[in-house]
Amino acid sequence: MSSRERSRRVDALILRHQRWGEADRLLTIFTKENGKLRVIAKGARKTTSRKAGHLEPFMRSTLQLAQGRDLWIITQADTINAFLPIRENLQIMGTASYVIELLDKFTYEDGSNPQLYKLAVETLERLSAADPVFVILRFYEMRLLDLMGYRPQLFQCVSCQEDIQAEEQYISALVGGVICPRCAHKYEDVRKISVAALKYLRHFQRSAYKEALAATPVEGVIQEVERIMQWYLTYLLERAINSQIFLQQIRKDPHE
Ligand SMILES: [Zn+2]
Repeated sequence: MSSRERSRRVDALILRHQRWGEADRLLTIFTKENGKLRVIAKGARKTTSRKAGHLEPFMRSTLQLAQGRDLWIITQADTINAFLPIRENLQIMGTASYVIELLDKFTYEDGSNPQLYKLAVETLERLSAADPVFVILRFYEMRLLDLMGYRPQLFQCVSCQEDIQAEEQYISALVGGVICPRCAHKYEDVRKISVAALKYLRHFQRSAYKEALAATPVEGVIQEVERIMQWYLTYLLERAINSQIFLQQIRKDPHE
């Protein structure tokens, strides 16, 4: 955001909040207009606060922001969608927390990404509508990878570029995609992936959401796909976090 602007209106998802001073809250939000921001909600911890009800995690709200000394301050908040069905079910609440956590971990402040905002909002709407959780999450993860520039290569071997055949394959988060059995020995971090699991990863990567809903994998494949995605995302996040720590260390080095 331009520092010369005095006020601004944003369409935001509330990611999390923490205590800030005696009565205030520091909120981390993801906005359609400006990506991730940290903003102050004055008096939000007081029981009489009218704003607080619009500022709970997972809520989508319109916020009016005013420039404070260091951070933007919320002057007005109106809920667009509180996603009530999510709040009424602990299990769905846990799933929504995962959606929000991934969004939070994969993004840094000041990076506008309206498509990612749209994806996150749609994902919470799908959870509210009680669509199948497996499809909602895998579709979300695959689109998130696309939008963050980590789209895995799933149709040709990342190493030799040959078309992937219908046989057991390998996958690598390090090089970003599928590796054929002929090339697998060259990599250390590879994991096996079955033909069926790969089929669903491809399905989620290239289908629109409505088509993705047609997926009906059997129990074992559901678990395999879930395990692979968890491993893949964790690897990317650790690498991203490590490079961020590395960058911070370079910046702090007085000899630079
Ligand atoms: Zn190969």
